[in-house]
Amino acid sequence: VRLLTVGGSDGGISAALRALEVDPGVEVTVMLADAYPNFSVCGIPYYLSGDVADWRDLAHRSGSDLEALGIHLVTDTTARSIDVDGHHVIADGPTGEWQVPYDKLVIATGAVPVRPPIAGLDRYGPADGVHLLHTIGDAHAVMATITDRAVSAAVIIGAGYIGLEMAEALTARGIAVTQLEQLPQVLPTLDPQLGQIVADELDAHGVEVHTATRVTSVEVDGGRLVVRAARTDDPAPLQWSVDLVMVVTGVTPDGHLAASAGADVTPRGAIRVDRCMRTNLPDVYAAGDCVITHHILLGESYLPLGTTAHKQGRIAGENATGGHRQFAGSAGTQAVKVFDLVAARTGLRDHEATAAGYQPITVAATADDHKAYYPGAQTIHLRTTGDRGTGRLLGVQMVGAIATAVHKRIDTAATALFAHLDVDQLNDLDLSYTPPLGSPWDALQAAVQPWVLQASTPAWSAATPTSPTPSAR
Ligand SMILES: Cc1cc2nc3c(=O)[nH]c(=O)nc-3n(C[C@H](O)[C@H](O)[C@H](O)COP(=O)(O)OP(=O)(O)OC[C@H]3O[C@@H](n4cnc5c(N)ncnc54)[C@H](O)[C@@H]3O)c2cc1C
Repeated sequence: VRLLTVGGSDGGISAALRALEVDPGVEVTVMLADAYPNFSVCGIPYYLSGDVADWRDLAHRSGSDLEALGIHLVTDTTARSIDVDGHHVIADGPTGEWQVPYDKLVIATGAVPVRPPIAGLDRYGPADGVHLLHTIGDAHAVMATITDRAVSAAVIIGAGYIGLEMAEALTARGIAVTQLEQLPQVLPTLDPQLGQIVADELDAHGVEVHTATRVTSVEVDGGRLVVRAARTDDPAPLQWSVDLVMVVTGVTPDGHLAASAGADVTPRGAIRVDRCMRTNLPDVYAAGDCVITHHILLGESYLPLGTTAHKQGRIAGENATGGHRQFAGSAGTQAVKVFDLVAARTGLRDHEATAAGYQPITVAATADDHKAYYPGAQTIHLRTTGDRGTGRLLGVQMVGAIATAVHKRIDTAATALFAHLDVDQLNDLDLSYTPPLGSPWDALQAAVQPWVLQASTPAWSAATPTSPTPSAR
């Protein structure tokens, strides 16, 4: 069997590695548009901050590791079209156009960063200090700007998780950062109350944050970049003069190669796959940021995450070599470190649950990460969402200091979602306890107890959600 993957990042490499595990006799070729197979793009902010000194260390495996495992790598080669009946891909590479035959094909072309409609953005690029951030090549370009232009001030457009990671990274380099977000809060994937805690953390570390602020233009003037913006509720012009502009406003799925071959795609361009990661084209699978994702609570969703791309790629690789495994689904679990804080979520927020037809209640709580008498106890802010009718857990959000292990507590909640637990059943979980690290009721359990109380209260008398004072802590 000849397996070809188009894409050499999380999705494509995971497919290739799994195919070889299942059938060491399979001939695996991985084609990728750039020269960086199997790199952790998630680590780019930590290279740009200086935490990771050498960009090569971001490789999960080196090219020679992959070749030693039996993968034939074709780098700097872009697939232009797929001849589905002829079972070959037509590609442009360093030696011109060529045809690459396959028996099974995995498309893992990922996503492309969004370029918002801001005047001037289409005229400027890395040479001017204007950057997108999606690939290792982009990371090199940002590093070149930082060193060549002796950057002292930067504007980051977007305050999603990559924008926040970059605010921390550039601050660590001594660069004054202004962060502009058109929505009313930073980290809009969390509830505003938690977003505000993250905004305060940015502020405490010197990042100038402007929410509800829409960038209108970027232009080069006198060797510097001038960014103009206005608040969404006030047309008065705002302006910054900086050396670097970073645009991190989300991604859109790159499904056009598959679509042009006849694959079914969503209106947004994500390739439709079944849970075996099969497209509607014979012998063609797809995985990662280019596909729609099965969500355990929503059914169909689009969740461009590295964790998901790895799992889906592995399933595509297994099934392309004769397997029958299904993708179990995502809960949208994610965490981000912002200076000394971690913000995390899994499942649905209140408005998302309502839109999906649930009857959600969301209850806020605070709890210490460990017993207050042991030094260093810190507060975790939690929000629990569950369905009033069924009691089913729908989602949890948390913000706390790094030492409060918010990222692992969210994983307990994610596990509960996978197990279809009711909110109340979280209290039954046998979680660990020792005073320096926890409490008899873990912070997650302390947060769900007021949810259970409120859900059992008739709606007409439901009080405003308050922090819990759980008994027996
Ligand atoms: C800065 C940053 C930080 C992130 N942090 C996190 C994180 O902390 N946690 C998390 O879960 N996710 C994170 N992500 C998201 C995660 O990196 C992506 O979800 C993941 O890389 C998707 O993998 P993929 O293989 O689907 O696509 P991509 O990584 O986008 O790779 C696409 C591949 O396809 C190739 N390609 C595209 N078109 C063609 C073509 N026509 N021909 C040949 N090759 C082609 C590309 O060269 C590349 O090899 C982050 C992303 C970024 C940019």
